[in-house]
Amino acid sequence: MAAETFQLFIDGDWVEPSKGGYAIVNPATEAVVAEAPEAGVDQVNDAVAAARAAFPAWSRRPAAERAEMLDRLADAFERRIPDVVPVVQAETGATMRVASTLQVLQCAVRFRTYAKLAMQNHDIPLPPSPMPNTALASGGLIGALAARQPVGVVACITPYNFPLTNMAGKVAPALAMGNTVVVKPAPQDPLAVLRFAEAVQEAGLPPGVFNIVTGSGAEAGQALVEADIDMVSFTGSTPVGQRIAETAGRGMKRLLLELGGKGAAVVFDDGDVAGAVAGIGSTWSFHSGQICTAPTRVIAHRAVHDELVEKLAGYASYLKVGDPLADDTVVGPVISEVQRDRIEALLETGRQDGAEFVAGGNRPEIGTGYYVAPTLLTGVKNEWRVAQEEFFGPVVVVETFDDEDEAVALANGTPFGLYDYVWSGDTVRGYRVARQLRSGNVGINTVQRNHEAPFGGFKQSGVGRDGGVFGLHAYSELQSIVWPS
Ligand code: NAP
Ligand code: MG
Repeated sequence: MAAETFQLFIDGDWVEPSKGGYAIVNPATEAVVAEAPEAGVDQVNDAVAAARAAFPAWSRRPAAERAEMLDRLADAFERRIPDVVPVVQAETGATMRVASTLQVLQCAVRFRTYAKLAMQNHDIPLPPSPMPNTALASGGLIGALAARQPVGVVACITPYNFPLTNMAGKVAPALAMGNTVVVKPAPQDPLAVLRFAEAVQEAGLPPGVFNIVTGSGAEAGQALVEADIDMVSFTGSTPVGQRIAETAGRGMKRLLLELGGKGAAVVFDDGDVAGAVAGIGSTWSFHSGQICTAPTRVIAHRAVHDELVEKLAGYASYLKVGDPLADDTVVGPVISEVQRDRIEALLETGRQDGAEFVAGGNRPEIGTGYYVAPTLLTGVKNEWRVAQEEFFGPVVVVETFDDEDEAVALANGTPFGLYDYVWSGDTVRGYRVARQLRSGNVGINTVQRNHEAPFGGFKQSGVGRDGGVFGLHAYSELQSIVWPS
């Protein structure tokens, strides 16, 4: 794989990066996977200019034609999946189970979903409204339509955890709605997304409709946000989202921000403890906890606390940590040395605050790679940093409550509000508590998703919603068209 070269994809062509390349490191082996292109600011602007030039024709195409191309794109990508899996596995460090499923299949699914949705009419017809004579115009029955129009050129900036799937979650609805895009993948793992552009070429998307710029630092992303774009669709950390919103605000650019989370998992005394353990355990067993929606902050009723902690500790110790290519590995590495060190530093604050480490806490002894053992902290107070800040790794903290109001207050007691969970045998209580949680998503007795539901954050977890048809709407402007009857 080291012999493979990667270039920028601008205006339908492969382009040599003006600033050379930088190394992409395999998080498990610490070996260089390949060089990724380092785009110059001029090339970011070239990509935006190409997307701008392609916008009028792409947005005016019949939706059925756009849908057909997105379907062809899904086909072309699916044919490449056997070649893409090793690339995305090597650059993300994902276990084979995750690399061969969620990292690739969900990408194709998203293009197919939005190809279908593009075939529907998303305009909103309004009943005619009787209007009186005014100084402005004579009265009568006035008709109107709320028409959905594309926003224009959309910058799609994504995080490192699911590079293809995150990209598809933005690009598929944006293109379906008639926008054109410039994609800026995360610096750690842009290679599979660059491979995806081969499918874009094969599917025959017009030049400029889809462009990719990559880079090792914030320069390319910053230049993209400042460029002549109409919207930023960003998924990543809250601090970066804040910087992007400040810059975008000056240009009145539209924003979709999917930011950090600190998912509360409220477990009541009548909750199914085994079910809760399996759900909460996904923080360890699914992509090393590098998921914004993970139930990382357990809020346990005092009556079930000990049983829950014992079972969680058992679950954590059962998971095999190590080589992501081995069949029986469940917990692979986290993305980078920087991230591993950040997690360890945050754990250290928990140690100093007085948390008890019931599982994990020490660096696993595996020759190479950036591993964090599945870690469980108990006796945690809500004001501690381990309860307030994201680990974005395989770490679960446990707090305790005595009554429902306290549980709700603790769950709501962080700046985040992305995804919370409730386990209770009383569905009325589950529903009542869900309605009090200041969180964009709440799972009752499940960590399962519904991809048709709107997805996004309250508070500092973001602005706007994607998911299903809401994702399509996120990439549109409403235009009122008014006429006399
Ligand atoms: P990140 O550090 O915020 O980076 C995300 C993207 O932003 C990268 O492409 C990054 O590339 C770029 N970027 C950084 N500074 C920028 C700037 N000033 N202007 C424009 N772009 C800039 O996030 P991450 O570390 O990759 O991912 C982990 C975070 O993502 C966690 O906080 C997690 O909760 C969040 N996340 C949220 C969701 C959700 O749906 N809500 C989903 C997944 C992940 P450069 O560093 O090269 O600039
Ligand atoms: Mg980063």
